[in-house]
Amino acid sequence: MPTNNIGKGLHIACPSPEHPFTPAWTNPNNINLWVKRDDLLHPIISGNKWRKLRQALEQLPGSCDRIISFGGGYSNHIHALAFCCQKLGIPLHAIIRGDYSANPSPMLQDIQTWGSTIEYVNKLTYQQRHDPAYLQQLEQRYPDAVIIPEGGSQQQALAGMADMLGELTQTYDYILAPVASGGTLAGIIHGLTQTVDCQSTKVIGIGVLKGQGYLENLVSGLLPLSPCTNWHIEHDFHFGGYAKSTDALLQFCQDLNQQYQLPLEPVYSGKLFWAVRELLAKGIFPPNSKILLLHTGGLQGARKLVLPD
Ligand SMILES: *Cc1c(COP(=O)(O)O)cnc(C)c1O
Repeated sequence: MPTNNIGKGLHIACPSPEHPFTPAWTNPNNINLWVKRDDLLHPIISGNKWRKLRQALEQLPGSCDRIISFGGGYSNHIHALAFCCQKLGIPLHAIIRGDYSANPSPMLQDIQTWGSTIEYVNKLTYQQRHDPAYLQQLEQRYPDAVIIPEGGSQQQALAGMADMLGELTQTYDYILAPVASGGTLAGIIHGLTQTVDCQSTKVIGIGVLKGQGYLENLVSGLLPLSPCTNWHIEHDFHFGGYAKSTDALLQFCQDLNQQYQLPLEPVYSGKLFWAVRELLAKGIFPPNSKILLLHTGGLQGARKLVLPD
């Protein structure tokens, strides 16, 4: 087990709660749902972003004078990282897709308050965020910086997701989580390979953007050679693309919040829970299966979204 001193310093509330969830949904196979509330790990640091950043922040070299990372204008990753950086006294240089300088989102306003510097880049430049040549230029500009990829999805993210599995109080037949940059799902899959549950627990990702093939490659690319193939991604629940939504989805999020005190946002967790409701109704899970839904947090990103009446 890691010492996790940084987490203590940041008052990360590990382990996060794990509780049964019994919505009044069509459930012909009598499936038992549980929720792992990583949204409650910290009031500001978004759940799965903490998990993914934990090891990278613990292993920063002493020479590190800055962290550089990438995200959109509402990025939960940039928000979480900027808060951690302020607490750790390390400047964050955030490379943001699109020019929000005239009208910064609540997320961008927060990170400016926390002392991050922001570099707005256009779509074309942003597309180079994984290119070795572009990254080399950044290294030349900032020789002692540590570069963390978009979403915090890198090899070091896997260990933090394993922390989440280590907190579980029982074994599950399925673990479900949303997928965008892939680190969360890869970490769950990899964490399971280190336990006997690799064979008995299946992992299902819910793609939150249009990315059949692409998302699978992101996840596989993060996995070390691993014998665990008990996973797949569902692609029917992206609602047209990343951060795309419908009134029905917004209403669903609001209803779950009101009926079950379960705060959801429509970009990630709303799509996950919606997918689960549909999959239960279809009866695709064997009778009496035990399913864990990972609530990955992300509520800050929804601050500006208008809910229907
Ligand atoms: C970033 C994020 C995800 C997606 O996780 P990936 O590791 O990028 O696939 C899911 N949920 C929330 C709340 C997020 O902020």
